[in-house]
Amino acid sequence: MMATVGRFAPTPSGRMHLGNVFAALIAWLSVRKDKGHMVLRMEDLDTQRTSDAYAQVLREDLTWLGLDWDEETQPQSQRSPIYREYFDKLEAMGLLYPCYCTRSQLHSVNAPHLSDGTYVYTGTCRDLTPEQRAAFGRDPAWRVKVPHETWTFADRIQGTYTENLATHCGDFVVRRADGVYVYQLAVTVDDGLAGVTQVVRGMDLLSSAPRQMYLQSLFGFPHPEYAHVPMLLAPDGRRLSKRDKDLDLGYLRDHTTPEKLIGTLAHSAGLLENPHPISAKELVNCFSFEAIRGDAIYLDGKSLF
Ligand SMILES: [Zn+2]
Repeated sequence: MMATVGRFAPTPSGRMHLGNVFAALIAWLSVRKDKGHMVLRMEDLDTQRTSDAYAQVLREDLTWLGLDWDEETQPQSQRSPIYREYFDKLEAMGLLYPCYCTRSQLHSVNAPHLSDGTYVYTGTCRDLTPEQRAAFGRDPAWRVKVPHETWTFADRIQGTYTENLATHCGDFVVRRADGVYVYQLAVTVDDGLAGVTQVVRGMDLLSSAPRQMYLQSLFGFPHPEYAHVPMLLAPDGRRLSKRDKDLDLGYLRDHTTPEKLIGTLAHSAGLLENPHPISAKELVNCFSFEAIRGDAIYLDGKSLF
């Protein structure tokens, strides 16, 4: 059997939030239970919002939680030449085309939208002639063509997930007009080259998986296993977010212990029958994906202290 390779892939744009802590904990438990290998990677493509100082604080926060890693790979901000190679592969396959649509065109009321507000790209720029392209006189974004094909996978927590890329998102951007490679391409390349076999992350990224699976198939990377951890909600049903300042690690580290925090999260998730302080290491033996509930988890912030 192939050893499990998991990853932490935080964005160093601020302190870790409770939701990030929860996803990191589950990712770590799964890898350690399998005696696998943990990779840390800073997702700092957005250089305007991210910094080395935040990256250092993230490492310290993970260490405080008792979540260690075996290897840190190159941060995404330094990997443009590698992303470029994979961008060129798509180009060589004839799958890329320039898109000149403006943000307001893409989000206009006439564009098709899904129920969650994201738009479906209808291929407006797919068949522009070279003359039409030249007439725009500015740098385009680049989109990859998607086939009318259904992607299905068995998420370890959410169960079967199915999506048709053509009807759910359409041809998607892999490089922005300013030359920055997009998350979907960067993540696929980084996970593929690091040999990641298991991706554990928040529910908000569930619908990214089919786009990444499509790119994996084009690049010849094996598909990793996916586990999307549920959202954490306040007792009134509100989503716990970065706005809840008392739930980021800056505050939590001053007011509680890692054992109390991990015990509360583990109990809310279904891994512990009774809430009691426990270290990440002690929790490894209690871990199974089957025990984790897939629907939203209600958590009273006060129970963390
Ligand atoms: Zn377009």
